[in-house]
Amino acid sequence: MQPINIYTFVHDTVLQKNDRHLKYLFFDIFTPQLSKMTGRSVNVVFLRNIPDITNFDYLSFSDNRLDIEPVIEALSTAIKAVFAAYMAEHRRAGKPADLYLILIDGLLMPSLGVEGLAIPEANIAIATTLGRTVVAHEIGHCLGATHEDVALYREPERNDPSHCATFMATGREEGACSIFSFSSENYANIKQHLKKAP
Ligand SMILES: [Zn+2]
Repeated sequence: MQPINIYTFVHDTVLQKNDRHLKYLFFDIFTPQLSKMTGRSVNVVFLRNIPDITNFDYLSFSDNRLDIEPVIEALSTAIKAVFAAYMAEHRRAGKPADLYLILIDGLLMPSLGVEGLAIPEANIAIATTLGRTVVAHEIGHCLGATHEDVALYREPERNDPSHCATFMATGREEGACSIFSFSSENYANIKQHLKKAP
């Protein structure tokens, strides 16, 4: 089976210059389990100083804007264009299990409070280092995971009376615990999604 490759373009805004630390903080929390659950190797490749990508001016898209849809549309179009140019320049073909991630510090859209964005049809995501789970969440979107399956998850083994938030949770009850995992429902979605990358 094809490996899952996460090409991580570290934006110039990211203060942490040590790739091992980035891997430990934001990838090791989900890639070993993703590998185990899908039976595929998961590779994280860090790239820095890539013109037009690691200096991509995402902040200009949301300047003083309060309506999210047009910002997402303009931003998605622009990001797809810079990656298309990168792929053409490097003569790379898109593969179903190759994901392209831009890692940023701070908010993607400060006026709207947005931490990340996924463009699943292009296998592209942007995620902030502000929270530990944003990278996993956006990569999850690119692999077919959804908010609905399952935002809040009851872990039988712990017999926890309250539901726990998994990576794809968008809202959580006050005091809900966190599980650093995709839900079993989302693992089923991910496996189904990866059938296109045999
Ligand atoms: Zn989401």
